[in-house]
Amino acid sequence: MPPKLVLASNNRGKLAELQELLAPLGITLVAQAALGIGEAEEPHRTFVENALAKARHAARASGLPALADDAGLCVDAFGGLPGVDTAFYATQFGYPKGDEHNVRALLEQMRGVENRSAALVSTLVALRSADDPEPLIAVGRAAGEVTREPRGTNGFGFDPVMFLPAFDKTFAELPPEVKNAHSHRGQAARQMARLMRERW
Ligand code: IMP
Repeated sequence: MPPKLVLASNNRGKLAELQELLAPLGITLVAQAALGIGEAEEPHRTFVENALAKARHAARASGLPALADDAGLCVDAFGGLPGVDTAFYATQFGYPKGDEHNVRALLEQMRGVENRSAALVSTLVALRSADDPEPLIAVGRAAGEVTREPRGTNGFGFDPVMFLPAFDKTFAELPPEVKNAHSHRGQAARQMARLMRERW
């Protein structure tokens, strides 16, 4: 089991969340920025390809095992889009980048669309080295329905319009610990911890 892993992300929230899940395995996560490693290109059309590219970049630059994630919203009526373009979704419609603009653009684009099914998806990829031929891949998926207007104030991103039928609430109406226990990110992280325990 490698004691130190570089995380190919500079998001402090993600670092803390993943560190907590991986701590029982004796793993310490180090943000790539702390090692002076810049961000990788993300040129691909799937989450898994982008996460792999980011992990490989971090592993190559650091000489350490690496973990990376890629996440976004997949809307059934749009063939799974915006997918890897989620963070910049609003900019496709002339709005500035940002969570509130993303929500507004999504509701506008889905006006008159009956099939509201969508999923938040998180893909994690871990590599023992840049040349590891057998990456560990964990995918978490929180499926729900896009509401017709925002509800709730917790969370971020698409949480106010992501309705979970099992809870009869949007992610933004759920307490953070309930969201984290059921979110795409939580699922992927727990699955990754299991894979590392079994395989590394
Ligand atoms: P990231 O890769 O986690 O930065 O997320 C990519 C995009 O998906 C961003 O636009 C986020 O706002 C959105 N997103 C990711 N996770 C969540 C979530 O848990 N709730 C709502 N939106 C999310």
